[in-house]
Amino acid sequence: MGSFTDSRLVFQAEWYDQNAELVRRYQFMFYPVDNTVEMFDVKNRRLFLKRSAVPNITEDKLYVGSVVNVNSRQLTLTGYGDNFTEKTLATRNEKTLAIIKPDAVGKVGPILERVCREGIKFCNAKMVNMSKADAASFYAEHSGKHFFDDLIEFIVSGPVIALELMGDDVIARWNKIIGPNNASEARSKVPQSLRALYGSNGTANACHGSENPAAAAREIDFFFGAGRGLSGTARLSGSTLCLVKPHAIENGNIGKIISMITDNGFAISAMEMFNLDRANAEEFLEIYKGVVTEYSQMVTELCSGPCLAIEIVGQHKDFRDFVGPADPEIAKHLRPKTVRAKFGQDKIFNSVHCTDLPEDVGLEVEYFFRILSQ
Ligand code: ADP
Ligand code: MG
Repeated sequence: MGSFTDSRLVFQAEWYDQNAELVRRYQFMFYPVDNTVEMFDVKNRRLFLKRSAVPNITEDKLYVGSVVNVNSRQLTLTGYGDNFTEKTLATRNEKTLAIIKPDAVGKVGPILERVCREGIKFCNAKMVNMSKADAASFYAEHSGKHFFDDLIEFIVSGPVIALELMGDDVIARWNKIIGPNNASEARSKVPQSLRALYGSNGTANACHGSENPAAAAREIDFFFGAGRGLSGTARLSGSTLCLVKPHAIENGNIGKIISMITDNGFAISAMEMFNLDRANAEEFLEIYKGVVTEYSQMVTELCSGPCLAIEIVGQHKDFRDFVGPADPEIAKHLRPKTVRAKFGQDKIFNSVHCTDLPEDVGLEVEYFFRILSQ
């Protein structure tokens, strides 16, 4: 960003120190001119990290709510640290809550392709089953209206996918992308809108978008706030794990990858975004330690940003064949129609992880959808 050449971005950051069992607070400074980071320990009023480059930290990864790894510490950026940063980033990093409603969950691939094409980032995602009580609370403002009961019935008729979206003016933009409330009206007025493409009528209208900043904050908290665990949809058996790696999310390939998965007949039974710290990534990839030379780079990549865990219904072997050889170079030659041939760059940036050994399938599914998902 040229406009920041002589300025810096300042955030408040927190790190949970497991040994001391307390939250440590830092002032986190980022210098776009040379991609360096500097940190001050707030309580002890001293320099904590001398200004230096930190692998994988770039300006676009820094926003309120983002999780970054600095020297094996997983920090959460909890707020802006000065007015300049807030003024510069607040509109560019506006957030909204989107829901892919039950009638459009099968279209998650094309919908995320649209999100990526529009330059909108998604910083959180979870497939959930809303109970009637969840639905009534989420739509409390419509309680008593003539369509309320139908709306509740509809929204609990199957799983939904909640997405936290971020981008410049994203609240208004997302509402424009989904189009008019009634799908028939959308078809006649804005045929390329998501409700026109994937909705059916006034109630079953494919997508939701927050109305304004206050609603966005409330609705994001409803699905993603601390302690808000709405019930996930993982079946934890008869399924296999597909983990979309951080670089494939950053590249904007996530929508295309999911479309490829569903176009090839694989059903998605659960989905959730995670930020892994180094210890999690090491634990998850432990079977590769000492086996593949890229182990440590694989770990670094896996905790460099959010990853998306997807539970795939069906046989592990079928899915592993579809994903292709771990090395995209080999995949391109031998299995050009596989996911890694299409979206991978090299052995570390190979777009998705899928379980190697049949005996590890259950463990890997459970690692994300039972252990990390809380
Ligand atoms: P939006 O989802 O665009 O914010 P509203 O907040 O007005 O729309 O309504 C919430 C949801 O209730 C709509 O998306 C739609 O599913 C349903 N709904 C709204 N109005 C009607 C209506 N007149 N008839 C049937 N269902 C409706
Ligand atoms: Mg509304």
